[in-house]
Order: sequence, then structure tokens, then C-alpha cells
Amino acid sequence: MQIIDGKALAAKIKQEIKEEVAVLKRNHQVVPHLAAVLVGNDPASQSYVKSKVRSCELVGFESTLIRKDDSITEQELLEIIEDLNENDDVDGFIVQLPLPKHIDEQKVTLTIKPEKDVDGFHPVNFGKMTQGIDAFLPATPMGILEMLKRYEIKTEGKHCVVLGRSNIVGTPMSILLSRKAYPGNATVTITHSRTKDLSAVLRSADIIIAAIGIPEFVTGDMVKEDCVVIDVGINRVEDSTRLKGYRLVGDVDFESVSSRCSYITPVPGGVGPMTVTALLMNTLKSAKSKMSA
Ligand code: NAD
Repeated sequence: MQIIDGKALAAKIKQEIKEEVAVLKRNHQVVPHLAAVLVGNDPASQSYVKSKVRSCELVGFESTLIRKDDSITEQELLEIIEDLNENDDVDGFIVQLPLPKHIDEQKVTLTIKPEKDVDGFHPVNFGKMTQGIDAFLPATPMGILEMLKRYEIKTEGKHCVVLGRSNIVGTPMSILLSRKAYPGNATVTITHSRTKDLSAVLRSADIIIAAIGIPEFVTGDMVKEDCVVIDVGINRVEDSTRLKGYRLVGDVDFESVSSRCSYITPVPGGVGPMTVTALLMNTLKSAKSKMSA
């Protein structure tokens, strides 16, 4: 069994981005700029945004963090988005989800200009993705594709089972892996909370992508020998032995599954760092596309 070390791979790709940014700066006076909007005090969101800002600094991007209290109205948030849409200094921006209940997330996503939607959530980018047209791919599936590519994992003709059908992970992942491309050309089954006999479906999988948000849901008895397991889940479970009082686990029971599979991503240190890296890759792409426009 080999661990897919997302943390090390992310560090390697960030180094590549850093070198490219240095050249852009030197030869074209271009510095990619990512902005992030954070609403409220959700600890997980704060930690994700912090990691995104830190990564920007590391690769030499400019970054802007706009923090707002969760009493912000929907209209005020939409105005901030409009300003970022019009700000030529900003190459891309994200609005960290989830948002407070009184704000319509769909409206927020639709207001972000597709050319700056480096999270790849806007239907224009999503639609382009489904048709194989160049677009910003959603950051988490894009990070997973990069991981499969860099570890040279074969996907063609494989049976890939995706657990979860969210708009940001499960559904785009299933589309990307069935595309006529590499990584892709897989036979994909997308599963969800209404799927019958999920264990039997999982046992027929050569590649499993787990994105359901249920701690350690996939266990060793549900997987085939030598399968590849990508664990997207990030779940906090109580742990009094830790300083913070919790630890992070994935949607996969690492211990029982890792003894059967050929490759597995750990949590933390697997998909998470690659998601942030994909966001940087999209922001760099946006900055470069402005240069050639
Ligand atoms: P979501 O809550 O939007 O969707 C969960 C999906 O799981 C739904 O489609 C639901 O039908 C399905 N589901 C629920 N119970 C199921 C069951 N018993 N069997 C099969 N399917 C079931 O989730 P999301 O936003 O896609 O996130 C999923 C997990 O991935 C969460 O833990 C989240 O924190 C994590 N996540 C991690 C990253 C990363 O960068 N590593 C990025 C995004 C999300």
C-alpha cells in the first residue's frame, strides 16, 4: 500500500508556482492576486481561509482577506462581490462556504463573474467543464485529478465509484473521471444517500472517491483488494487526548481500508492541501489569461 502524500505533492506544486510567479514578476510585472471573503466565525472556515492566505504568501501572490460579521445582509455581500468583479487588480476570488442561513448561496455563486470564479462553482464554468471546454475546474476535484496524474494512477477502463453528489465534489468528480481524457476514461458510478446496497457497489470499485462527510464510513470489508482510495472527507471527532479536544478524520476508516488497498490518501494531509493548491493554479491561470487578452 502506498500513501498518496497530498501535503508533499502540494508543497512541490507550490514551489513550481512560486518559480513561475517570480518569472511573471520579473518579466511582466504581473503578480497574481487572490481575494477571499469570509463571513462569520465558523472555525473550520476560518482555518481553510487562513491556509489559503498563507499559501498565497508562500508562492508570492498578493492576497486580500475580506472578513465580515455574520450579521451582514445578502445585499451587502452581493455588493462586495460586485466590487471584486470590477476590481482589475483582483485575478480571482472565493466566497468561503457555508454562508449564514439568511444568505442564498446560489445567488452568491451566480453573482461571481465566471472569469474570476477560481473555485469553479459558477454554472458557466461547470457547463464548460461538462463539455470539455477550457474553464476553471472546481478546486477539490481538480486537486484530485492532479494527484492521480502525478502518482501516475491508471484510470482508463477502471470502475470508479464516487460517494456523494454535491455540486462542489461528487458530481463534478464523476463528470471529470468519465471524460475522454487522462485522468478520465473511467466507468463511473455516482452514489448517494438513496443508493441501495452501497457496500456491494463499493466492492466492485477499482477507484473510490469518498465525499459524504460521515466519519470513517467506508470500512475495510466494503472495499476490493488493491483498489485506490481517495478520501475527501474532513470530519472533526471528539478526542480528549488532543489539545484542541478533537481530531480530524476522513470518510474512510484509514486503518481497516489501508491494509487492503493499493493507494490511499490520508486525512489530514491528502486531498485538503491539494484543494488549496488547485485554487492557486486557477488564480495563476486567471492572471496569465489577462496578460494574453
Ligand atoms: P455535502 O454535505 O454537500 O454532500 C454530501 C453527499 O453525501 C450528498 O450528496 C449525500 O447524498 C451523500 N451521502 C450522505 N450520506 C450518504 C450515505 N450514507 N451514503 C452515500 N452517500 C451519502 O458534502 P460535500 O460538500 O461534498 O463534502 C463532503 C465531505 O468532504 C465533507 O466532510 C467536507 O468537509 C469534505 N470536503 C473536503 C474538501 C477538501 O478539500 N478535502 C473540500 C470539500 C469538502
